[in-house]
Amino acid sequence: MANAAAFSGGYVANLGPSAEGFLLPAVDEEAVAFWQAAKEGRLVVQACGQCGRLRHPPRPMCPSCHSTSRLWKEVAGAGTVWSYVVPHPPLLEPYSGVAPYNVIVVELDAEPMIRFVGNLVEDVDAPLDSVDPHSIRIGEPVEVVFRTFTRKDGSTEALPFWVRRPS
Ligand SMILES: [Zn+2]
Repeated sequence: MANAAAFSGGYVANLGPSAEGFLLPAVDEEAVAFWQAAKEGRLVVQACGQCGRLRHPPRPMCPSCHSTSRLWKEVAGAGTVWSYVVPHPPLLEPYSGVAPYNVIVVELDAEPMIRFVGNLVEDVDAPLDSVDPHSIRIGEPVEVVFRTFTRKDGSTEALPFWVRRPS
């Protein structure tokens, strides 16, 4: 049965933080396609195989029609800042060393019900504190970029970050 694994809560790997100590995702069965696409520089979200509704983060059942049929859809990485917070210490290392920085919630232009949590940075390789939180405006346009992190064992993970784009 195709959906037999739907509720298994399958655990694939938590391979630990990056070499610099930044937290990286523990990739489970439900989200493995998301993280694989990120490594390829593509932003994908889960879509219901029955009614087509998009959802994020990935989960086994459609909240609209309760179908467990699901697929992946590539979406444009353009969005706007929906909200943000500014973390201050006490924080884990190495986050405390770059605080205060920003954590933003991005609403996708193509699918406003889909929101991502991430960081607004100057460019794909810029540090977490590269954008002054006081300069962030709700509704400002941003676009996704993917930064690759390497663990001490040499394995990699790509995480979505956000940069400003012209309005
Ligand atoms: Zn559905």
